[in-house]
This record gives sequence, structure tokens and C-alpha cells, in this order.
Amino acid sequence: MALTGIQILKMLPKKNCGECGIPTCLAFAMKVAAGQTEIGECPYVSDEVKEQIGEASAPPIRTVKIGGGGQVFTTGGETCQFRHEKRFENPTGIAVLVDTAMDEAAVAGRLERFKSLRYERVGVMLKADLVAVKDTKDDRAAFTALVKNVLEQAEDAKLILISGDPETLAAGAQECGERKPLLHGATLDNAEALAKVAQDCGCPVGVKGKNVDDTVAISEKLLALGLKDLVIDTGARTVKAAFEDNVLARRAAVKTKFKPLGFSTINFPCEITDDPLLEAMVASVLIAKYAGIVVLSDLQGEILFPLLLERLNIFTDPQRPMVVQEDVYPINGPGENSPVLLTCNFSLTYFIVSGEIEGSKVPSWLLIKDTEGLSVLTAWAAGKFGADMIAQFMKKSGILDKVKHREMIIPGYLASMKGELEEELPEWKITIGPREAGHLPAFLKEWKA
Ligand code: SF4
Repeated sequence: MALTGIQILKMLPKKNCGECGIPTCLAFAMKVAAGQTEIGECPYVSDEVKEQIGEASAPPIRTVKIGGGGQVFTTGGETCQFRHEKRFENPTGIAVLVDTAMDEAAVAGRLERFKSLRYERVGVMLKADLVAVKDTKDDRAAFTALVKNVLEQAEDAKLILISGDPETLAAGAQECGERKPLLHGATLDNAEALAKVAQDCGCPVGVKGKNVDDTVAISEKLLALGLKDLVIDTGARTVKAAFEDNVLARRAAVKTKFKPLGFSTINFPCEITDDPLLEAMVASVLIAKYAGIVVLSDLQGEILFPLLLERLNIFTDPQRPMVVQEDVYPINGPGENSPVLLTCNFSLTYFIVSGEIEGSKVPSWLLIKDTEGLSVLTAWAAGKFGADMIAQFMKKSGILDKVKHREMIIPGYLASMKGELEEELPEWKITIGPREAGHLPAFLKEWKA
């Protein structure tokens, strides 16, 4: 039975030193009990206590790390079935496939797209995470050469090595060194040999079942052999079957704590269809329903970008607003005669407004007031974007020394605030800017100090 936070606290050293990244032992114990962090994060607990608490408080979907040396992809760690119950923890990994049957140019193309298709949105870098290297020709030398190539070309890629031969996987893992790959996949026939390879090189293992029952049997065998870090592939190669298996595995793990299915799933949209658009749709369905990793046949911007945005949405904590720091942000190299704009610290607002200012090429100062992640109107209604607070922020922000003029633009709908603000900041002229962010560039180009 799971331990409560208080039971866990009793077993902690109670130094309240914060080395675990959480200020007090009590807060740490609560997080361990909620499955939000691991007991191993406290450097002072004994191995015995670690084992005792770790087992009892581990999330029902085990947290598994792929990679190493500062480049780690984390999957699993999930504690709930529906995001509104708490949140989803570790975003689905997006992988691109390369295999030993492909010619050099095709491999180079996929790796190039892996490296170049990156997008920064709301302060987060969105990109594919992993490269799956498949031994399609049953040729160990060709496989290790391909692994080497991927390691050199895609320096931040985490690797999934796919072969039915444990020795081939061992050779690939050896090439990877500290960048511990996921070794895929273990079957009932090769489980013992692959478990030995995984234990020797310290790599996680992918279970490759023919169906759910077979997956459970392999998983149980690997657990009995002492392996802990698994990822499961139930062998489903239709979207319906993959969807059903993902749901079944998640439910079995979360609701009934069924250990053999208490792992992230790896899905292969690349093997479900040859149509790239359909493949993207399959991946989209599986990202929404519990895929730990999806392996795509190729990466194209028009396919990858929507998947990355979908993933960002699903794995954003619904209970915590995304915020940017309260500050003065210079955009396009502003000077003393540049316009001054003010808005809230809800990150979506910030990135939309700053993006439009940037696109206008007009050098500007953007002041971001802390509104605890609320949008402008909501913050105003909640008393967190009042004239007195803005006036105080303006004074301490240092903007008075940065510009000669005294005009501030507040984009949006807050016309009712103009009078109050002008009372609080008598030297300032307050302009309520365009209602739509998209109209900011034209507005700023016309603006004069
Ligand atoms: S590192 Fe350990 S002792 Fe220190 S605060 Fe965290 S739980 Fe407590």
C-alpha cells in the first residue's frame, strides 16, 4: 500500500537542507507520496529506506531515462489516467526512424531534418527527441556504422536501437557509451540474452510483444530477471489496436497497479501506414492517448510542428499558469525615444505581443507586470493589474531612466483603466493600444514620441 507523506517524513533525515531541490523535508515527503518526485533525490536516505519508500511510492508508470551525459530523455512517471486529475508528467518522445536498408543520402536527410526542425514557442524549444536506429538487414557491421553516424550527426539525439539480435544491440550500445540507448526489443525467445546485455551496459529495454498477453509475459520475465527500466510495445500495428492497448495498459497500471504493464508505451506510426499525412494523424491520436514514444518514418515541418504543439498542450500542467518573469524586455534594440508597452505576465500574452513587436521591426520596450499568470482583463478584474500596482512597478522597473518621453501603450481592451493610471502616473500619457495584437505592427510604425 502507498505510504502517506507523514509516513515518508518519519523515514527522512529531516535536515531541511533543500539539496533535493525542495525547501523542506515535509514538502519533499508530500511530493514523494504524490509520485511527483523520487526518494533518490534526497542524498541522505539510506539504501534500505530508499528501497522501502521507493517501492511503495513509485509512480504506477515507471520513470525511465534514455541517454546520459547531460542528454537525457525521460519517459513515464505518470500517476493518473486523465490529465484533469492532476497532470501528465513527461511529454511523449517523438522519434525519427533510420535503418540499415536506407542509402546514405536518405539517412543524412532525416538526420538533417531532426537537427533543423526546431521551434521556440512560449519560451520552450519544441523539437523531436530521439532517433530510432533499426537493423533491417540483420547486418551487425552496417548497424554499428549507422549508430556511429547518428551519434556523430545528431549530437543531442537520444537513441532507440532496434534489432532482434541481443549481440547486435550490445555492439550498438557499446558505440553509444554514456548515451545509454533504449534496446528494443525483447521477446520471449531472446529475453534472457537481452536482459544480460542490458544489465551489462545499464540500458533500458523495449519489450516487443505480439499482443498484450505476450507483452505481459515478456515483461514479467524481464522483471523476474531483475530488470526495472522497461518500455512496452504491444505489437499493435493498427491505430485502433494501438489506441486500445495504450488505454488498457495505462488503466491497468494506474487503477490496479498491474506491474507488468506499468511502463511507458512505444508506438510505431511509421509501421501503421505509408501515407505521411495519415501517419501524422495516427501519431496525433497516440500522443493524445498515452504513447510514451512515437516513432515516425520521417520529419517534415508541416507534420512535426502540429504534433509538437499538440504535445505541448497535453503536457502543460493545467493547474499552473505559464508565466514569464516580471521585467523590462528590450525588443529590436530600443533607445530613449522608443515606444513603451505594458502587458501581463501570462506567457501566451507575452509571446503574442512580443512576437508582433519583433515582427514590426520597431525598436520597443515591453514591460511585463507580474499578474500571477492571469491575462490582462482577468488580472484587472482580480485586482492584480490595478493602476496603483502598475504605477509602483513602473517606478521600480527603471524605465524612467531608459526613455525620454512619457507615453505608455497598453495593448488590448483596458480602456477603462486609462484615467486611473493617469492619476497614478501624472507625468505619463496612457494610450490604450490596438485591441488585436495583429494590429500592433501598423500601430507602432505610426507611433511617434
Ligand atoms: S535533501 Fe533530504 S534532508 Fe535535505 S530537505 Fe531534501 S529531503 Fe530533507
